[in-house]
Amino acid sequence: MYPENQYVPMYHLVCVQCGATYPADEIIYNCKRCGHLLAVKYPLNEITINKAAWDKRPLSVWRYRELLPVQIEPVTLQEGGTPLYHLKRLGDEMGLRHLYAKHEGMNPSGSFKDRGMTVGVSMALQLKMKSVACASTGNTSASLAVYAAKAGIPAVVLLPAGKVAVGKIAQALMHGAKVI
Ligand SMILES: [Zn+2]
Repeated sequence: MYPENQYVPMYHLVCVQCGATYPADEIIYNCKRCGHLLAVKYPLNEITINKAAWDKRPLSVWRYRELLPVQIEPVTLQEGGTPLYHLKRLGDEMGLRHLYAKHEGMNPSGSFKDRGMTVGVSMALQLKMKSVACASTGNTSASLAVYAAKAGIPAVVLLPAGKVAVGKIAQALMHGAKVI
């Protein structure tokens, strides 16, 4: 059990089309009844958020762990908490005083995909998966490979022939992913 995670959210999976529900720990990729996608449903009004506790934690995805399903020690590379720049000159031009840009390239694998991937690979371990896989031509495959390497499990990346961001595939290969 992750030491600071005192609240275990009683979330479940819901079909976005027909509303069928499934337990959160069921290994399922789409609705058994109609085949549509599943969404994660949280009882948000039952989750206790302690802002003082959040303020004490480092700026990262895991600062908000009460809102995440992971109950084990997460697979993390300190993703999130990227710099926020005040774009004053561009804002002046556009008549926007409070225009900011978040520099998501500062995440560990160089993209915002790391925010989801830290949770996804942690959930894979929690659900006792032995490997992870994705179909992606770019940032997702790089991110998956990085987090799988951190977790010590194999990653498989599936690509369409000839439609590939070479730099991103190099990243996946360097981190030991099997690229097909
Ligand atoms: Zn359904």
